[in-house]
Amino acid sequence: MARPAKKVCAFCGRAEGQVNMLISGLNGQICNDCAVQAYQIVRENLGGFEEVDDDDRHSSYNVDMKKVPKPREIKQYLDQYVIGQDDAKRYLAVSVYNHYKRLSQPKEKDGVEIEKSNIIMVGSTGTGKTLLARSIATLLNVPFTIVDATVFTEAGYVGEDVESILSRLLQVADFDVKAAERGIVFIDEIDKIARKGDNPSITRDVSGEGVQQGLLKLLEGSIVNVPPKGGRKHPDQDYIHVDTHNILFICGGAFDGIERKIAQRMNTHVVGYDSVQNVAKLDKKNLMKYILPQDLKSFGLIPEIIGRLPVLTYLNPLDREALRNILTEPKNSLVKQQIKLFKMDGIDLTFAPEALEYMVDKAVEYKLGARGLRSIMEAIMMDAQYEAPSWRRKEFEVTLNYARQQLEKANFPAPAAI
Ligand code: ADP
Repeated sequence: MARPAKKVCAFCGRAEGQVNMLISGLNGQICNDCAVQAYQIVRENLGGFEEVDDDDRHSSYNVDMKKVPKPREIKQYLDQYVIGQDDAKRYLAVSVYNHYKRLSQPKEKDGVEIEKSNIIMVGSTGTGKTLLARSIATLLNVPFTIVDATVFTEAGYVGEDVESILSRLLQVADFDVKAAERGIVFIDEIDKIARKGDNPSITRDVSGEGVQQGLLKLLEGSIVNVPPKGGRKHPDQDYIHVDTHNILFICGGAFDGIERKIAQRMNTHVVGYDSVQNVAKLDKKNLMKYILPQDLKSFGLIPEIIGRLPVLTYLNPLDREALRNILTEPKNSLVKQQIKLFKMDGIDLTFAPEALEYMVDKAVEYKLGARGLRSIMEAIMMDAQYEAPSWRRKEFEVTLNYARQQLEKANFPAPAAI
């Protein structure tokens, strides 16, 4: 009777006893060592942790448009967290919705390909750009990350390569390359990589134009070698190949001083009686709303980058009313957070309306904006938070007098903050 054939690895020829494990296929076996090696070869050659063929990259990612929130719903959701900024919310909602439509484009090509609509949001610091991005991220079920453009420099200098933007996205996506390839990246402080003069630089501009060129590659959609751990690329490293065609980029920046460029442009284009009347109607306090792509160019973004950020929107400066609403209206407003903290100690906390007005006055007086409201609230509530857990009382009202007394006691604002 024929003896059963001895099981050996079809790749290295070692027999059962010489390896830890043999995995059987239809006509042969593979040992654990060869399986690992084969996996690594696949990874190196095809990129990512799973086989991604080119057709697949452009296939629909099974986005069910019925489940995707509609622009109106996205805006309503944002309204719960962000006060005002209606224009920015609408632009953001439409772009994100279109991003999903892009992802759900069926394979059969009718010749019409929906192009990516990367967004750039311009607005003073502390007006809600990051908050908008963060809030929208919680609504969407695609990988999302926030990166700061200031850490990037041209290759060869201290800093990080722009590709590390994608490393962070990969990390958020648990290194699922396909998921990362449909994600959203928020690049904060994009204005900090503006070129330093209006003309192409003669001296090195390592954190400006060079970085913009690097970023361009990501924005326009290409296959990028990404160092899995981020930072600087180096030759002995394994790279993950990431296709950026379907990644949506949202950029934000304060663009300090851009109002001057807007004003200059508007003044030079004033010709004739009609125009004079139009200029008279201008909202001079908020020139930002007249922003056009050419103003970004005057500020120092290269035209290629501007072209890749076709959706341009702005955020309004926050006035008194907006600041007052920020204190109480958002779902996790500062007031609601304090009430919750005290509730956990069994105390009903209330704020007198005049106390809230006082906080807003101080934020306006010291030009601290919405970010300052948080520090003001903390300074006022610090003593009470310290004592409350030991109180027997069940109620506590923050009156105008109490607020004023606490803030003065805390020497607010610290001299460095003014
Ligand atoms: P930016 O990114 O524009 O510099 P942020 O979004 O980081 O500003 O805002 C800083 C903080 O100020 C936020 O965490 C939030 O608490 C508050 N804030 C700013 N703008 C708004 C807004 N429009 N609605 C609600 N809160 C806001």
